[in-house]
Amino acid sequence: MKDETKLAVLGRDPEGHHGAVNIPVYRASTILQPSLKALHDVYSARAQDEQVTTYGRVGTPLTYAFENTVAELEGGYRAMAYPSGAGACSGAILSVVKSGDHILVIDNIYGPTRQFCDTVLKRLGVETEYFKTNIDPASLRALLRPNTSLVFVESPGSLTFEMLDVPAIADVVHKHGAKLAMDNTWGTPLYFKSFSHGVDLSVHAATKYIVGHSDAMLGVVIANKESWPALRDTARTIGANAGPDEVYLGLRGIRTMAVRLPRHMESGLKVADWLRGRSEVTGVRHPGLPQDPGHAIWKRDFLGACGLFAFELDKKYGDAAVAEFVDHLEYFGIGYSWGGYESLVSVPAIKGVRSAEAWENHGTTIRLHIGLEDVDDLIDDLKAGFQRLNKAQG
Ligand SMILES: *Cc1c(COP(=O)(O)O)cnc(C)c1O
Repeated sequence: MKDETKLAVLGRDPEGHHGAVNIPVYRASTILQPSLKALHDVYSARAQDEQVTTYGRVGTPLTYAFENTVAELEGGYRAMAYPSGAGACSGAILSVVKSGDHILVIDNIYGPTRQFCDTVLKRLGVETEYFKTNIDPASLRALLRPNTSLVFVESPGSLTFEMLDVPAIADVVHKHGAKLAMDNTWGTPLYFKSFSHGVDLSVHAATKYIVGHSDAMLGVVIANKESWPALRDTARTIGANAGPDEVYLGLRGIRTMAVRLPRHMESGLKVADWLRGRSEVTGVRHPGLPQDPGHAIWKRDFLGACGLFAFELDKKYGDAAVAEFVDHLEYFGIGYSWGGYESLVSVPAIKGVRSAEAWENHGTTIRLHIGLEDVDDLIDDLKAGFQRLNKAQG
């Protein structure tokens, strides 16, 4: 089955639901059983890792359908849904570490994940060390300690878009006996098949392209077979279960991913390439561009790109001029998150979320999420923005 077909057929059960095309939302806490024996039986089936319905928090047919669909799409063993992407990141980490451990985290990691490591993990006696985004496998090997249990990466980074050689890093990590977790939100389960590149735990902010419509918070972690039991037990013990409506929206979003993503990619690349030709722009960070330093890895490992990238303005443009550019864009909403059908713009403060390498001597970074609008309308909108930028800078 090809991916497009998987998106249409996985996670459905009309026969079990009166012919309904989609599995309905199960609003459930208590699950009633006909007898004490039936109750014992269903709980022992659960203990054998069967996807039975025992209690709302643990999962319903809809939760399992969502989790299994995402897992199969990316090539993992099983998956766990979380109430947010941030919950998925911390859930993946907590399923591996114990007090006294050391973990290695890439410097371009999603900000709230960094915060989780620097606060909660630290309090629990786990030491986090950040490493440079362009690290080579030998240098990473040198950072591994006997108590290093996890390496957590993101590629490309979601603000600065550096690419990492994930298979080469995975090799080093596994030789050491540690696990490799990856925030794969940018790649999505469609465009980066993390498990065939050596990842043990793949994390997604399903809030982004999986939900795809900016109307729900949802996360998911997909595990390989070895990492699954700890992931499952940790999530269930913590009580980090996703709500039924959000899971429904996640599974619904999956149905159209293979139509939405190519459009995000195509329009994103067109805008990125157009930006390269602007005199105001000193650099465009998009691994799908042949000129990008991460392009070779992207081309080797990824099946596509999403609509998120960034560009850097010449240092001569000050904050007031940048605000003139951003504030009056017609089609780009000013706000965080991404992966919905609509275009967004943000001006991330990168310096504050870096520790392994300095972020110095850069102009303002502007991050764009290219939505499903007509791409020429978007380019015209940006063109007018550059006029305002130049006028304001004088
Ligand atoms: C948004 C995001 C998250 C967190 O997802 P939420 O659903 O907003 O909690 C994690 N990782 C990356 C790369 C993200 O962009």
